[in-house]
Amino acid sequence: MSGKLVIGNWKMHGSLASNRNLVRGMLEDWWINRKGVALASPHIYLLQLADLLEYSPVALAAQDVSSFGADGAYTGEVSAPMLADMGCRYALLGHSERRNYFKEDNRVLGVKLRNTLATAVTPVLCVGETLQERESGCHLQVIEQQLEIAAGLEAGRVMIAYEPVWAIGTGKVATLAQIREMHDSIKAWCLQNQKGSAKIHVLYGGSVKADNAEAILSIDSVDGALVGGASLDVGSFAMICQAADKLV
Ligand code: PEP
Repeated sequence: MSGKLVIGNWKMHGSLASNRNLVRGMLEDWWINRKGVALASPHIYLLQLADLLEYSPVALAAQDVSSFGADGAYTGEVSAPMLADMGCRYALLGHSERRNYFKEDNRVLGVKLRNTLATAVTPVLCVGETLQERESGCHLQVIEQQLEIAAGLEAGRVMIAYEPVWAIGTGKVATLAQIREMHDSIKAWCLQNQKGSAKIHVLYGGSVKADNAEAILSIDSVDGALVGGASLDVGSFAMICQAADKLV
C-alpha cells in the first residue's frame, strides 16, 4: 500500500445519481484514484459502487456487518460472506453511531468480528471515548475495554480506528498529543494482547478535514484516517488523500 490508508465513511448519505457524480469526480482525481483509498457506502449502494470502481484501485468498504454469520431467516440483515461476495475489502465495526443508536456492545461486536474474520473482509474496529470519559481521565481504560474483543487474535488481522466520540461530526479535533498518546497506547495493548509481531494499523477519525489532515497523518503511529463528512466532497477528500499519500 502506498502511503497511509484513507477510508471515506459516507454514513447514511447518497442516492444513485449523487453517488455516480461523486464517484466519477473522485475517479478523475489523481490523489483519490489510487491504492490506499476506500469508500464505505450504505449497503444498498455497494453494488453500484462495486460497478463504478470496477477498474479503479479504490477499495470498497461496508459500514457494518450482521451478527448472523450465515444465510437464514434474518430479515433486513447483510452478512459478512455477502459483503465479501460484493467485493468489500474492509468493514467498519462498532462505529460510535452504532454503539450509541443501536446499543452495540462488546458482546455483539465480538460476534460480528468473528463473522468478519471468517471471510476475506478486513474488519476495522472503531473505538472511542465520550467527552465525559475523557474528562474523568479514564479514556485509556475505556479504549482497552473496547479492544478486549480483539485479544488473542493475530496482530494486524484487525485494523483499529480510534475515533473520539466528541470529535465525530463536531468539528472538534483531538490535539496531536491526545492522538499520539492514544495511538501509542492502542499499539502497546495490541503488542501485549495479540499474537505475532505483524504491523498493527491504527487509523484516526474525528473531523479530519483538508486543513488538519497533514498534521494528523504526520504522526508516526497514525496509519491512516477514517473520514466522515469530508468524504462527501471531492475537493476536501482529495486533499486528505494527498496528505496521506505523501506520508508513508
Ligand atoms: C466518521 O464518520 O467516522 C467520522 C470520523 O466522521 P467526521 O469525519 O465527519 O467527524
